[in-house]
Amino acid sequence: MYKRVLLKLGGEILQGKRNYGIDLPASQAIAEELKEIQRLGIQLAVVLGGGNIFRGAAGKGNNGIDRSTGDYMGMLATVINALALQDALEKLGVVTRVLTAISMSQIAEPYIRRRAIRHLEKKRVIIFAAGTGNPYFSTDMAAALRAAEINAEIVLKGTKVDGVYCSDPKRNPRAKRYRQLKYIDMLKMGLKVMDSTAVSLCMENHLPIIVFNIWKRNSIKKIIYGEKIGTLVQK
Ligand code: UDP
Repeated sequence: MYKRVLLKLGGEILQGKRNYGIDLPASQAIAEELKEIQRLGIQLAVVLGGGNIFRGAAGKGNNGIDRSTGDYMGMLATVINALALQDALEKLGVVTRVLTAISMSQIAEPYIRRRAIRHLEKKRVIIFAAGTGNPYFSTDMAAALRAAEINAEIVLKGTKVDGVYCSDPKRNPRAKRYRQLKYIDMLKMGLKVMDSTAVSLCMENHLPIIVFNIWKRNSIKKIIYGEKIGTLVQK
């Protein structure tokens, strides 16, 4: 049974069935799942992406905006998502703290590692916002980095599909799901499920990753109790 986990959710999870922004029922559904985990006494930290609102580089919403500026805009998008999830969790009575890598003291606490750990010990759900605070990175990287910093036992990457497949399961219905995968093979295959710098950081720090379907009820709970769902990425 895991005691301290880091959950990474792409911004598109909060988008639900819409094609942009935040869908209330989707964020409520995620909040319900997280509440269950917190009730079990599991220390839970969440890293949210921003892809439902803005991505730097040539990503969503970017009309040729300078890379670094676009990346900062993407990081701010993750803060919007963090506040939405915080609100959904608080409506369910879950105590949360948003910790941001870019200072904005009116909105959220600055990210301070020791403080984050303290919150976890007090069973507050922490939401890491603003990625790593640096352009040219991704929120997958923020997930790997924060997980290592807070000594999380595992990175749970919640997606819309059941795990890592040999090819895109949406395009190829015969695509096979890997139950287990070595970091190095994931990197060699150049799979897009998770940013390769993030996978490398997990590899160096012996941090296992489980890629799973967040929309299947109780998935996180099952993982915490040791049920083998999704794809386990490790040494
Ligand atoms: N971003 C960044 N540095 C970080 C994290 C995120 O510059 O440490 C920017 C980057 O532009 C990225 C955007 O924020 O495209 C949104 O994050 P991401 O694409 O990782 O979100 P997700 O795909 O998980 O929704």
